[in-house]
This record gives sequence, C-alpha cells and structure tokens, in this order.
Amino acid sequence: MSNTLAVLPLLVSPSRVIRGENALRESADSLSSLGKRPLVVGGDRSIEVIRPHLASIAKKHKLAPDYRTYSPDCSENSLSQLRESVKNHSADFIIGVGGGKALDTAKLLARQCGLSIATVPTSGATCAAWTALSNIYSDAGAFLYDVGLSRCPDLLILDYGLIRTAPTRTLVAGIGDALAKWYEASVSSGHSTATLTIAAVQQARVLRDLLFQKSAGAIENIGGEDWREVVDATVLLAGVIGGLGGANCRTVAAHAIHNGLTHIPASHHALHGEKVAYGILVQLRLEEIVQGNQLAASARQQLIQFYDSIALPKTLEDLGLKEVSLAELRQAAEITCGPDSDIHRLPFAVSPEQVIAAMVSTTVSVALSPKVKAE
Ligand SMILES: [Zn+2]
Repeated sequence: MSNTLAVLPLLVSPSRVIRGENALRESADSLSSLGKRPLVVGGDRSIEVIRPHLASIAKKHKLAPDYRTYSPDCSENSLSQLRESVKNHSADFIIGVGGGKALDTAKLLARQCGLSIATVPTSGATCAAWTALSNIYSDAGAFLYDVGLSRCPDLLILDYGLIRTAPTRTLVAGIGDALAKWYEASVSSGHSTATLTIAAVQQARVLRDLLFQKSAGAIENIGGEDWREVVDATVLLAGVIGGLGGANCRTVAAHAIHNGLTHIPASHHALHGEKVAYGILVQLRLEEIVQGNQLAASARQQLIQFYDSIALPKTLEDLGLKEVSLAELRQAAEITCGPDSDIHRLPFAVSPEQVIAAMVSTTVSVALSPKVKAE
C-alpha cells in the first residue's frame, strides 16, 4: 500500500491524562502550566458546572478565565465567533468542557489559533476528549465533515465527580458509540497486517466485551466500580483505539448512518451515540441483505438483547423518528451513500434503496442456521 512510503504521525494519546474523583481540583498546576488566560468553551450546563471549580483554581494560580458557549453548534460560524473571543480576551490557551460537540469545537479552535488545549469531559458520551479529530456540523446540526488535528489534547482531565452529575442517558449513548469501534474497525481493518492496526482492532473487541459485561451494572450503580470502568472504556479506551488505529481504522456504515440521520431535524433529540448504536444495527442488516451474511444476523440478535438491557435505541421509532417521511429517509440514505461517505468501506457496494430497507428492518427476526454463533 502507498501508506508504507508516507510519513504518518502517530497521534495516540493526550500528552497528560489526570483522572480521579476530584481530578479537576487536583489539576491546578497542570492547567496553569498551559497559560494564564484560558478561554473556556462549552455548553451552558457544562460551563455552570465547571465555573465554581475553575474560580477557585483561578484565584489560587492567578488565572483569568473567560467563558463562551459554542452555540448554535460545532459549526464554522461558531468557530469564527470564538476566534474573535480568543482575540478579545487575549486568550493563551483553551479549555474545552462538555460533551462531544463542545470538545470538538474547542479542539479545532485551539488548532486554528495555535494554542494549547485542555479537555474536561462532563459525561461519558464520547471519546472526543481524547482524540485528534473534530466533526463539523451546520448551524442547524447537520453533519458536514471531519477535520484531522495535528495532535491530541495537551491535557485531559477526567473527573469522575463531574461525570457522575451527567444524565445516565449520556453514558448509555457513550456505550453505543464505543461499541461501534469493533463493528466498524473489524470491517474496515479486520484483515490488516499492520501492527498498530491489528492492535487497535483487538482492543476494539476487548472494549466491546467489557461493555457487554459491565454496562448493566454500571447503570444500576452510578458512581460504583463498574460505572467507573465503563466511563474509562467510553472516554479513554475508545480514544486509545482511535489513536492507535488512526486513519487506517476508520468508521464504516454505523457512523455514515449517523451522519445521514443528522440531516433530519427531528433526529436532533437523539444523542450522537444513540444514532451510532442504531447505525450498527443498520450496518449489520446491510451485511445480511446484500451479502446474506449469517454471522451479521446473529451479531444483530445478540446486540438487540444487549440494547434492551440498557435502553439503547433499536429502531427509527426509538430515535423519535416515528413520523419520519419517506422523502426525509431518502435524503438521509442518499447522504449516507454520498461519494465521500465511509459507508463505502464496506466490502460491497450499497445503494440508498438498500440503506432504506436496512433502516426500517433493524429488529426483524431471521431464522439462523444452528451452526451460526455470535462471533
Ligand atoms: Zn462516534
């Protein structure tokens, strides 16, 4: 492959990761080593959560933080307003606080302004606090494109106390997003002979098994041991896999389905990981419909049971799209099958009609031959 001759930087992990019950409070020295005038970028809820913690750090270390939301979305317009805020505040580093979109905005802002960045996730919903990647959306929340960054964040602060305050639904969504690592990486890179890609795919399998074992217990006892392990899995291990796998271990149909769905306004109530979780079922269904793949059918039945146990969405109805029109579905399917879409990493060609057929039949039962067992 031409890859062997190219220079490919390894962007495996943040320079420093500080985690613990009061990790933010304990991170004062690390934060103040990045600068003195942070611009804090987040959503309204996250900014209110973090403000008192940062105020006491700021007092002690003579920091002068300013706070901005990324409203209306992680979009080009928000980024251009935030670049103005960086200038007006003479900010010398960025703190991103919140969920995936807030962190994606903050990371890209830091790169555009040539500043250091600390990320503080306030939920277990994604691995965005870890990765060197930002997704860009329209002001209305439709996915547009992703941007590879030149490095992972300079500092990641994983404060379990902060994350415990997030709605349980965000962790469930994070479980859905993290599960996709296996179902997508095994398709895009399962036959790779490259050392780090093999390692990433195997870690994705470990991640999936860990989530199968511990998710129900994590949700039953928020703050308990299983919960902490699952948060580490969705925020950190999912990030490690993205870092190790890099461009060779990209997303496939599950995220392509998510990207298509974001163009249906009614889907905006569903979280990223919820749409991705549903997208995994669509991807497996496509493997069944187009390839007659019995293993995919069996994997889908296994996932449906797991989804039931933790309330991940299995159907368009579960995503709040009961009233979706055929025209909207068609538009989402066409975007899913667009020329640059990762759906084309599937080992077979897919048409929008097949995507629609898969989208409306994610829970259909099929008779499995007795020999087929879940992989
Ligand atoms: Zn994702």
